[in-house]
Amino acid sequence: MENLKPFKHFATDAIHAGQEPEQWKCKAVVPMISMSTTFKQEGPGQHCGYEYSRSGNPTRNCLEKCIAALEGAKLGMVFASGLATTTAITHLLKQGDHIVSMNDLYGGTNRYFKKVASRMGIETSFVDCTVAKNVGAAIKPNTKMVWMETPTNPTMQLVDIEAVVSVVRASNQDIFVVVDNTFMSSYFQRPLSLGADIVMHSLTKYMNGHSDSVMGALATNSDKLGEELRFLQNAFGPIPSPFDCFLVNRGLKTLHVRMKEHMKNGLAVAKFLESHRCVEKVIHPGLPSHPQHELAKRQMRGFSGMVTFYIRGGLNEASTFLKRLKVFTLAESLGGFESLAELPSVMTHASVPIEERDQLGISDNLIRLSVGLEDEADLLADLDQALKAAVL
Ligand SMILES: *Cc1c(COP(=O)(O)O)cnc(C)c1O
Repeated sequence: MENLKPFKHFATDAIHAGQEPEQWKCKAVVPMISMSTTFKQEGPGQHCGYEYSRSGNPTRNCLEKCIAALEGAKLGMVFASGLATTTAITHLLKQGDHIVSMNDLYGGTNRYFKKVASRMGIETSFVDCTVAKNVGAAIKPNTKMVWMETPTNPTMQLVDIEAVVSVVRASNQDIFVVVDNTFMSSYFQRPLSLGADIVMHSLTKYMNGHSDSVMGALATNSDKLGEELRFLQNAFGPIPSPFDCFLVNRGLKTLHVRMKEHMKNGLAVAKFLESHRCVEKVIHPGLPSHPQHELAKRQMRGFSGMVTFYIRGGLNEASTFLKRLKVFTLAESLGGFESLAELPSVMTHASVPIEERDQLGISDNLIRLSVGLEDEADLLADLDQALKAAVL
């Protein structure tokens, strides 16, 4: 992979951005957990930069600065969950506005647009954004936001961010483009540098990486959007606890180290499965068999530990395989140090209507793996024994 060079200063920023000991009187090297809800003022309205913990918190501030640096952004903001971040961004719209969204999405985002935002009079068109001109064709006079994930969850389709941005810009300057970067983490993909207006994450996944905190984040270089989002963060209050901010901030310190290992183990698993007789097909953007492998190499700096494959057979084989795994844990979520396996049609994507699942290829024999940081040989041996138990 020719463009595997990491972003400049990434590791240094992950470790130092927003963490300056000088910001604390005691010069703490690790940011303090500030639980105080309120801050003393010298005179009415004369405060030290913090007034009330919903509008600003010292621990959260350290994390927000670090995330901004990792996305190459002016501004970073964190929220109580990935979906709370999605909600905050969607609050930039008003009744009567329109969203164009990738049709292959995290199940919860699909549900939010369809069943919640719709109640506020915000309509969403779901289109196949892998073909950029489909986005252009779906744009209406009232379109305000274009939303995508790349690679998608769980079918690993790639959206060409630059191509979509250029279609959007040619049609209407006021539409903003959002990329959900959860699957790649800031280490492997920087959507803002490809023209997106806002990048968002479920920090619950790779960014925190330790499966012990639910949080979300966004980053932007737009002063206008940033100002509105800051207003919204305070005005409707979907903020995380200082303790969770501390955990995610700590997780970021090893993001670059973890992602390299996730990539190595993920590729090893993908190659192993591709050659296994109990497997019908593997989807991984790092394999030459992936239809958008060239785009992957151009747009991304590497691959995470996400691997999707079709087991030979149907629901029975898939269920037996998942129950027989010993090193992989059968559970939802992804991006932690531990390997997980799940069945999207029954678990993470059960809220996506069956006709849409069929159209996207999310069938009962499609299995999603989040390959963790265990020993490669143990992971391969585990997959091998469970596949043989299920299929042979
Ligand atoms: C998990 C996830 C979300 C939602 O984040 P939460 O932290 O669970 O609210 C959004 N997008 C993607 C791609 C995800 O994997």
